[in-house]
Amino acid sequence: MSEERTNVGGVAVATGHFINNLRVSSPSTFEDRSPLDWSLKLADVARGTALEANLALDAAHDAFPMWAALGVKKRAKYLRRLADLIDENIDRIAIVETLDMAMLEESLRLRVIARGARNFRAYADLARSYKSRRWTANGTRNRVLRMPAGPTVVITPWNAPFMLSTWKCAPALAAGNTVVLKPAEWSPLSCSLLMDLVLEAGFPPGVFNLVQGFGAEIGAALVSDPRARRISFTGSPETGRSIGVAAAKNLVPFTAELGGKGPFVVYGDADLDAAAQKAALMYDDAGQVCLAGTRLIVEASVREEFLKRFTRATMKHVMGDSCESTTTISPLIHPEHLARVQGFVDRSLDAGDSLIFGGKRPDAEGLWFEPTLIQPRANDAEIVQREIFGPVLTLQTFIDEDEAIALANSTEYGLTAMVFTSDRAKAERFGANVRAGTIWVNCYLVRDLSAPFGGTGISGIGREGGDYALDFYSDLKTYQVREDSTHG
Ligand code: NAD
Repeated sequence: MSEERTNVGGVAVATGHFINNLRVSSPSTFEDRSPLDWSLKLADVARGTALEANLALDAAHDAFPMWAALGVKKRAKYLRRLADLIDENIDRIAIVETLDMAMLEESLRLRVIARGARNFRAYADLARSYKSRRWTANGTRNRVLRMPAGPTVVITPWNAPFMLSTWKCAPALAAGNTVVLKPAEWSPLSCSLLMDLVLEAGFPPGVFNLVQGFGAEIGAALVSDPRARRISFTGSPETGRSIGVAAAKNLVPFTAELGGKGPFVVYGDADLDAAAQKAALMYDDAGQVCLAGTRLIVEASVREEFLKRFTRATMKHVMGDSCESTTTISPLIHPEHLARVQGFVDRSLDAGDSLIFGGKRPDAEGLWFEPTLIQPRANDAEIVQREIFGPVLTLQTFIDEDEAIALANSTEYGLTAMVFTSDRAKAERFGANVRAGTIWVNCYLVRDLSAPFGGTGISGIGREGGDYALDFYSDLKTYQVREDSTHG
């Protein structure tokens, strides 16, 4: 056991795992540094292995029958209590997450962390309001029952770690599953704070566990353990593939929310100001957003007008300290990631793509990268086809609707797609013909928790969100009673 804590921005953050409501240490640790100042070590965090994966799954496995039998109403009370505690602790969670992964503190404080609380509240309500489907057929009365599926492994990426973890853990817990959460090793701290609140909310031991460490070590051990009856993953397509292999070996249902390379299509009849303003938002969070429309695809007749407006909107961005409210562009998460982003840009320019603006690090010390726009020499250029996950967009043009849709569909990804037009029929055709899990018409980043969410192609498998998530985290059972029975 270990109650070791480290001071992060004035908040004492536990650095161990959280298993059976106890903090557990590991023989070795890994360094967690701040992207705001890479010389600043935030913590030595427990580096879990198969041993801790096993302990956590033991705990989740042992607690499962009790949690499942508790019933939806009682489980919802725990979830609501946790939601209230998150709301009470928004400022603490926000500062820790800002220091840990550099997302803007104001945006975490005003929006993103509160979304975590809403996730728990929404799934408490949704699970309780489930109306099982009922019908009569073949001389029987039928009902669909949702049965808790078992211990669930949740693996999350480094961007928006608190919100993305709660988005998956909330429906899993509401459905009656116990959870082992493993956040990413580049931003492990805010999920550790969540576990303090789990304890304070009075969750029974073993219901909600957290382990820390590297994907190839503890992550791989968790997803290959046959006791995990659901696996929910958000991260890169490469990791998604290897988790899929592990899930297949144990025949375990899994969802994977993976990378994106969204098309951002602007027709000549669109409100160009509105489109340009929204397009400039693609640089928010230094472009480390899977949902972003990173391929600007603009009708040739309005290219110059759009580019002028877009450049003006982009130049309003302010690179700076993520804790300052005037900052709109944070540093990137990690020097390795910065080098990866720079690598994409360098290879693109070496291969003959044209730089419109940006393309380098600013003069200031730190992990920032300038908002960058590149005109590719061809659609099969790497810069168009691969997710960069940084502040780098491409600009392409089209002549007619067929070409716009063909370009939109021309990558292996299919997470989101955006279209700007004043023609409703054109928007409908875009929605019908473009491959993506979410289509936004004249808007961006509008999310409703009840909507299905996920990707097609290499952007993912399965859908979470609303009842779709509760169905995924349940074993659906058909209950049939002969019609002339006196019960059922
Ligand atoms: P990643 O795939 O490198 O890591 C994600 C998580 O998987 C981490 O916790 C990591 O430790 C773990 N992991 C790595 N190898 C593993 C293995 N073999 N077994 C089990 N776990 C393993 O992704 P990342 O770099 O942290 O995140 C960025 C990626 O996430 C981008 O591609 C981004 O688009 C994607 N993303 C997608 C969504 C979405 O909703 N679709 C949301 C956010 C991020």
